[in-house]
Amino acid sequence: MKVAIVGSGIAGLMAAWFLARKGYDVTIIDGGGLDATSISAGIVSPLMPPPFLDAALKSKRLYLSEFSESVKEAPIYWVRNANDKCSRVVLESLERRGEKVLTFTEEPGLFETVSGFQIKIYREEVLNVVDSVLVDTGSIKNMVFREVGDVIAGIARVKCGSVVVGSKVLRPDVIIVASGPWLPEVLGFEIEALEVYSCETAFLDPRKPLKHSAIIDDSLDFYAAFWGQDAQVGDGLFRKVGKPLDAYSPDPQSISLFIDALARRVPESSYWRLKKVLSAPCAACKDTAPLVGPLKGCRNVILFAGFDGIGVTLAPALAESLARYLEGESAIDAAFSSQRSVKDLGVKPPEPFRLCGEPR
Ligand SMILES: Cc1cc2nc3c(=O)[nH]c(=O)nc-3n(C[C@H](O)[C@H](O)[C@H](O)COP(=O)(O)OP(=O)(O)OC[C@H]3O[C@@H](n4cnc5c(N)ncnc54)[C@H](O)[C@@H]3O)c2cc1C
Repeated sequence: MKVAIVGSGIAGLMAAWFLARKGYDVTIIDGGGLDATSISAGIVSPLMPPPFLDAALKSKRLYLSEFSESVKEAPIYWVRNANDKCSRVVLESLERRGEKVLTFTEEPGLFETVSGFQIKIYREEVLNVVDSVLVDTGSIKNMVFREVGDVIAGIARVKCGSVVVGSKVLRPDVIIVASGPWLPEVLGFEIEALEVYSCETAFLDPRKPLKHSAIIDDSLDFYAAFWGQDAQVGDGLFRKVGKPLDAYSPDPQSISLFIDALARRVPESSYWRLKKVLSAPCAACKDTAPLVGPLKGCRNVILFAGFDGIGVTLAPALAESLARYLEGESAIDAAFSSQRSVKDLGVKPPEPFRLCGEPR
C-alpha cells in the first residue's frame, strides 16, 4: 500500500518509520522550512497528566529500544512538587506504573548531588526526580530516511485522494498530514480546533564546562537541557500569532528574564551568555491533545498534527498506534482522535487537564 507523508518533523518521521517497517511503500514530502522539531530540546517527559502519560512512557521505551543510537543522554528530570493536585495525580500515576521517582525534602540552601549534578533546594521545597531521555532528532531523521522508499523536497498541497508538489501529482492510498502548525496551509482550509502560537528558544554559550542535566519547573513554564559545551533553553512563553510567518520574531528580552530566573535555581546558569535566539511556530488544540486520525469527510487523509510542546514526547507512541489503526488492529484513542476536536469546538479540556487547571 502506498502512503504519502507530508512533513518530516518528529510526527511524520515516526509515522514513516512504523509504516515502512510494516511494509508500506512510504514517500515523505517536506518543504524544508524551519520546523519545531529541529530546534526542540527533545526531552521525553513523563511528567504530564494521564492519558498522555501512558503514551509518554511508551515513547520513552520506543526511543530506548528502536532509536537508542539517537538518545543523546538519559538525564534525570526533576520537577518541583508544589503539592498541588496535578503533581500528586501525575506522581501517583508514575508510581503505579512502576516508574522510579525520587523525592527530596531538604533544609534551605542545601545542595544535593543527584546523578552528578547539583540542585539547590529551597525552604520547604520538595523535588521529585524521574528518569527521562534526551533525543537527537537529527540522527532519527537520517535513520528514517534510510528506511523509507522516497523523499521529496517541496511544498505539498493535499486534496482528497492526491498530493500536489509543484507539477508532480501523487495518488497514494493513504495521505498522512504531519505538517505541524502548517495544517491549514496544506489542506487549504482552517481547522478551527487548532491554534498557532510561537515558541522561543535560546542557544547559550555556557562559558564554563557544565555537566549533563535537564530541568523543568512544575508548571512547565521553562526547562533547560545541556550537554558538554552546547546548551539549549526554552522559556515556554507562548504568544498567539495571527498568521504563521509572524511566529519568527524572537524576543531576546524574554529569554534574558528566563535566564535570570533559572540562575536562582541552577547556580551555574549565571555563566550562560546568549548566543542566538530562535523562534518557531507551534500548534495546539484547545484541549491540548494532538489531532490523530482520519480527516472528516475524506477518509484517505489522516491527520497527525497539533503536537505543540509535546511532539518529541508523544509522537513515537501515537505513530505506532496510528500504524496499528491503519492495519485495522485497533481504534484511535478517543483522547487524541481527530474527530473529537474537529466536531467539538470549544470543548472543555478532558478530566485530567481540569485537574491541572486550564490549558494555555
Ligand atoms: C524550542 C522548542 C523546544 C521544544 N522542546 C520539546 C521537548 O523537550 N519535548 C517535546 O516533546 N517537545 C518539544 N518541543 C515541541 C516539539 O518540537 C513539537 O511538538 C514537534 O516538533 C512537533 O512535530 P511535528 O512533526 O508535528 O511538526 P514540525 O516539527 O513543525 O514539522 C512539520 C514539518 O512539515 C513540513 N511542512 C509543513 N508544511 C508543509 C508543506 N505544505 N509541504 C511540505 N512540507 C511541509 C515542515 O517543513 C516541517 O518539517 C519543543 C519545541 C520548541 C519550539
